[in-house]
Amino acid sequence: MSKKKGIKRRDFIRNTSLGVMAAGIAGPGTGLTAAEEPPPGMPEVKAFRTLGQTGFKASDIALGGVDNVEVIKAMLDAGVNYIDTAETYSRGKSEISMGQAIKGRDRKSLFITTKLHIKENETKESILDRAKKCLERLGADYIDCLMTHNPANTEMVKYEPFHQVCKQLKSEGKLRFTGISSHGIRGRGSDKQDPMDKVLLTAAQDGRFAVMLLVYNFIQKEAAEKVLQAAKEKKIGVTLMKTNPVGNYLSRKDQMEARLKQEKDPERLKRMQDYLKSAQETAEKGDWFIKKYGLTDPAEIRVASTRFGLSHPAVTNVLARTRTFEDIEQFLKASGTTLSNMEAKKLAAFAAGPGKLYCRHACGVCESACPHNVPVNTIMRYNHYFEAQGLEKYAMEKYAALPAAKANLCETCSGACQDNCPFGVPIHGLLTLAHENLSLV
Ligand code: SF4
Ligand code: SF4
Repeated sequence: MSKKKGIKRRDFIRNTSLGVMAAGIAGPGTGLTAAEEPPPGMPEVKAFRTLGQTGFKASDIALGGVDNVEVIKAMLDAGVNYIDTAETYSRGKSEISMGQAIKGRDRKSLFITTKLHIKENETKESILDRAKKCLERLGADYIDCLMTHNPANTEMVKYEPFHQVCKQLKSEGKLRFTGISSHGIRGRGSDKQDPMDKVLLTAAQDGRFAVMLLVYNFIQKEAAEKVLQAAKEKKIGVTLMKTNPVGNYLSRKDQMEARLKQEKDPERLKRMQDYLKSAQETAEKGDWFIKKYGLTDPAEIRVASTRFGLSHPAVTNVLARTRTFEDIEQFLKASGTTLSNMEAKKLAAFAAGPGKLYCRHACGVCESACPHNVPVNTIMRYNHYFEAQGLEKYAMEKYAALPAAKANLCETCSGACQDNCPFGVPIHGLLTLAHENLSLV
């Protein structure tokens, strides 16, 4: 740390994933690739926790949705023994890569969870067929946990054909436990949708779910806290996702400045200055934050945000959705450690300042104010995939396929959604930036 003391803001930005994109090194669709080999001295998992009623001793850092076989192997070598994937991740490639990486390893020492998005009115036969294909892609004789993937509402939590499939697979020795994931509202569509806490509280009461995957981080806490309490009471194992809401606040500032400089049309420039003003002011707080806390390494906040998730007594582990060995290192550094008072202060200061650029996962409170029914939260989630997770192509495809109004409408709108955000997110400007990211305009 001392070696990097006095790091310049520009260097700080360059060391963040969007910083790399903002610098033009990687763009939409390119993604970042892992180095060939893990660096020497890679940290190892230092703590294992009981995964609720399953009794499995799971690593506190879990492996989530990665499709680079070498990265997966490095994590397994470091002691990670909980694997989370899904039928849809990289269109099945994640499951295939996980399957390749676990070949030759002691299967019983690993806990493999995969997920299926269950469609309304889907038949038992269809769900069973898809679950068996997951097994094939994983090259596994059995799955430890099959999750219903972000069910739209409480009725889908109890969807009988899914539970019948789980029962059948368990009786055949192909499945051990049933689970559920939720990040809440999936975007405005035709079906009835319930928020994450309602969905997961229903699951906790249902009694058939042994493991949950949910959103909880140092900025977005309230909705999950009730669920975590219920999970603890019911002995449900809890894995966290989206624990790092830090995003790329500084490079957003650069993106906005660059965008304004480029604009030649005076009318459009005026509009942009208006809708980006609030987001720019919030991003300015990033400079203040770095100065006040002498933040010299972008990984510092990231490690602290992982520690924050692990500090909740109901939490079993935190998903590391990583693509590079550097990312793995940062997650593993948090294993077996606790949040210091200074880190807690930094996280609180970040949340109150530049953290306001974070649109809460599974929220959507402001959406009812939009005259065009733009699915604000879903668009910002896709933008999160694009910016923070490097899943540019995937994010753009999801955005293109969105069966709803898109954020191109935001440019000429007065921004009623922004006034309705209880968290002060400067969402009007952020939506226009998201639209530019996701549609390559
Ligand atoms: S802008 Fe605010 S109210 Fe709207 S979805 Fe994001 S966090 Fe929720
Ligand atoms: S800026 Fe306007 S069009 Fe865009 S989401 Fe908000 S209210 Fe809807």
